[in-house]
Amino acid sequence: MKEQQATYKKKLPVMEHFYTIQGEGEHTGVAAYFIRLGGCDVGCVWCDVKDSWDADAHPHFTVEEIVDFVDAKEQAKTVVITGGEPAMHNLSALTSLLREKDYAVHIETSGAYNLHGHFDWITVSPKKFKAPLQSVLKQAHELKVVVYNKSDFTWAEEHAEHINKNCKLLLQPEWSKREKVSPLIVDYVRAHPQWKISLQTHKYLGVD
Ligand code: SF4
Repeated sequence: MKEQQATYKKKLPVMEHFYTIQGEGEHTGVAAYFIRLGGCDVGCVWCDVKDSWDADAHPHFTVEEIVDFVDAKEQAKTVVITGGEPAMHNLSALTSLLREKDYAVHIETSGAYNLHGHFDWITVSPKKFKAPLQSVLKQAHELKVVVYNKSDFTWAEEHAEHINKNCKLLLQPEWSKREKVSPLIVDYVRAHPQWKISLQTHKYLGVD
């Protein structure tokens, strides 16, 4: 017990945390508390959260303090841990305490690092700049591939070869290219119905 309490004193860099609507993927439309951890070395050129890359640029909070943030929002039932690349951190203590309090714990990761923690939903969104580990692809509940251009469909299929049989397959237009690639995704999903479309609905709705 003492050992467990000590792990709850472990600190993690938090870039921001907020209660909002999950805009993407299978859980689109679900209210969720987002914890955006600092730190990422994946280096995507189109990254829209580059401020997250330097973990030391963000305040560090203990696991207990982070869970207190979530507890303060009484309506919260689902917690999404994102980044940055959240899997660069050991999330065992954070996810244990969240689950002890009956939150559903989701993570959004590039898959480039082994996962340490207990998750109810694992979203792997692979990035070209640092390949996902096959062991993490196997654990994914959803494979969400951001489509930047036509060649990304082949790339998406290459990753789909490594998932488990229950994993959902999602194609999502990269926001700045959405007008160009969305019609291509529609055609692709018509021809390959094992895939679904994921849209960044929070951006269409103007929800922060
Ligand atoms: Fe940005 Fe995510 Fe890529 Fe890291 S993995 S560079 S946070 S888009």
